[in-house]
Amino acid sequence: MTDIKSLYYPELEKFIVDNNFPKFRAKQVWSWLNKGVRSFGEMTNLPKNLIDFLASSSYISVANIEKKLVSRYDKTVKYLFRLNDGEFVETVVMNYHHGYSICVSTQVGCKMGCTFCATGKSGFSRSLTASEILAQIESAGRDLNVRISNIVLMGMGEPLDNFDNVIRFLKLVSNEDGLNIGMRHITLSTCGIVPKIYELAEYKFGLTLSVSLHAPDNETRNKTMPVNKTYPVETLIKACKDYFDKTGRRVSFEYAMIDKVNDSDSCAEKLGRLLKGLNCHVNLIPVNSVKGSDFKKSRIDRQKAFINILNKYSVTATVRRTLGSDIDASCGQLKRNYTQEGGK
Ligand code: SAH
Ligand code: SF4
Repeated sequence: MTDIKSLYYPELEKFIVDNNFPKFRAKQVWSWLNKGVRSFGEMTNLPKNLIDFLASSSYISVANIEKKLVSRYDKTVKYLFRLNDGEFVETVVMNYHHGYSICVSTQVGCKMGCTFCATGKSGFSRSLTASEILAQIESAGRDLNVRISNIVLMGMGEPLDNFDNVIRFLKLVSNEDGLNIGMRHITLSTCGIVPKIYELAEYKFGLTLSVSLHAPDNETRNKTMPVNKTYPVETLIKACKDYFDKTGRRVSFEYAMIDKVNDSDSCAEKLGRLLKGLNCHVNLIPVNSVKGSDFKKSRIDRQKAFINILNKYSVTATVRRTLGSDIDASCGQLKRNYTQEGGK
């Protein structure tokens, strides 16, 4: 079966023409798909033989709402979506002053096994197709009746471990016939798959690369992020420099502060030395506690101390505002609780 919403327009046109339908039908199908229809029957200006052909040869990816939680504090919304094959992914919509941001998943689970991450603890099932990433945005936008203007690829999964589908998604979502969300409004977060960072840089997209660093040296990072054993800190930072040189885009570093693991003054000094001179910004995040691991949030005064030390090295840092703290808004947690309880 053809995953019709993952096709670029020229591919869709070829598909239609190769199957002996006139070219102009491709435009009609493309326009319906971009309107977000969820079945071929809704394409009311198509002849029956084309609808029958599409229904027997193709499918439209959907993200059905299985569960929806709304934060009482800040109206952050978290969805558990069911995909065509019954797999579940999580998506979060946040309302900032400048509009709605969505945090999408790129895989069902993740292979990377970071010890502090709920998704990493649940293992890996499969990668999402481009259309399944798009479907999360369409479903949430439709349900909330809002235009989503910013995307972060920071949900379940490692985007650069699903490179081709993610590139396809990025091109489709920024297409002016589609959701038309520009690259400047997109952030891609990675645990640091170095060769793929070089590859991504070659596309020269205007998106923001966000690197989950979480430790300033190999000894500390090896303990929490297995990927570091393959791509150690110094090779990762070199790739980030290259990314900036090629794209002109400042790199963000995520640093989840874990009590007594990576939050000492000496960690901050090392981080400052590591990032000094690099065009970047550090987001400090108090780690979210996850069932099955005993990591604790750093004390508040550690955040201040970190910022002061980093500033000494002319590295800017801010503490990421936590939204949706009452609804387990960090990805992986809802699915983990839901599937472990057998669904509610
Ligand atoms: N796989 C990608 C993107 C998804 S994870 C990556 O790792 O970057 C999105 C972000 O959430 C990453 O920065 C990740 O390190 C962070 N994260 C995972 N578990 C967390 C937790 N328990 N507390 C705080 N941040 C966490
Ligand atoms: Fe995967 Fe990112 Fe979680 Fe690590 S932090 S296990 S890379 S989703």
